[in-house]
Amino acid sequence: MELTDRHGRKHRSLRISIVDKCDLRCTYCMPEDQHFLKREELMTRKEISTIAKLFVERHGITKIRITGGEPLVRPDAGDIVRDMAQLGVSLGLTTNAMTLDRHLDGLIAAGLKNLNISLDTFDAERFKKIARRDGFDRVWASILLALEKGLRVKVNMVVMRGVNEDEILRFVEFTREHDVHVRFIEFMPFAGNHWGRERVYTYAEMLGHIGSVHTVEKLIDDPHSTAKAYRVPGWPGTFAVISTVTEPFCGDCDRLRLTAEGKMRNCLFTREETDLLSALRRGEDIAPLIEANVLAKHAMLGGLPQFKPEKEEEVLHDLSERPMVSIGG
Ligand code: SF4
Repeated sequence: MELTDRHGRKHRSLRISIVDKCDLRCTYCMPEDQHFLKREELMTRKEISTIAKLFVERHGITKIRITGGEPLVRPDAGDIVRDMAQLGVSLGLTTNAMTLDRHLDGLIAAGLKNLNISLDTFDAERFKKIARRDGFDRVWASILLALEKGLRVKVNMVVMRGVNEDEILRFVEFTREHDVHVRFIEFMPFAGNHWGRERVYTYAEMLGHIGSVHTVEKLIDDPHSTAKAYRVPGWPGTFAVISTVTEPFCGDCDRLRLTAEGKMRNCLFTREETDLLSALRRGEDIAPLIEANVLAKHAMLGGLPQFKPEKEEEVLHDLSERPMVSIGG
């Protein structure tokens, strides 16, 4: 049965978090005092495969993205990629690329073609401040290696006012030489990330900033895309903006999520979750749970008010207790 919510949106995309741990501690993603799941709470490789297969075969999911935490810290990540590739879906992986160079050939052999790589700065010192770990050189080298090996690479930059907005043009410059897709993400509120509306460098400001130096052309966005895409004419690469705060795009959202402990979330910001893993472990049919979860999806932002300045207090009060690191990008 196709997964249609009460607003008529059909869902084809599933993001599966396979672990809640990460080898970085990015300030906008992982709270200082984050506690991690025990091994037995995590979905096993077989359980991930069983649930994903059901989403694909019974519910028409055609796109899967594997995420975390950092999926590559999980020793069987390559096996899980192989299992997902055998489902015949469009497959992607989100990673911080800290150890990507070691896994790349195996991931490509397993069938991976699309990578989302997080990078918020080209400055090694600033990287250390944001990620609370050293690692810029390794990440940068892995990005170039992935491009060299012909993978489709999206580079995600979370833009935070007063932290890294001065590097936006440097990221656009990256698209001059490389067939890479840079995505500027408005800073979003999650538990423990010290979000404030004033820290959001907005979509309009980003375009103004880029437009002050470059003439850009608007590209046609894929249906259900989260990003508004542009290109500097004649350059191989492209850039886009994910404007969840100032211009949310929930109207044609087709995305669903599964947390590392097997809880289903019908939206990035939802506060309601459905425990599929416990039901699966009890030998129950989880399809009715999946359908009910989708049917209950809010029209936008998981039922939160739009992230306007005057709504900041309400947003922060009603936020899900789940931090970004355990939802996944
Ligand atoms: S906020 Fe929720 S409903 Fe809106 S686009 Fe994101 S996941 Fe979809």
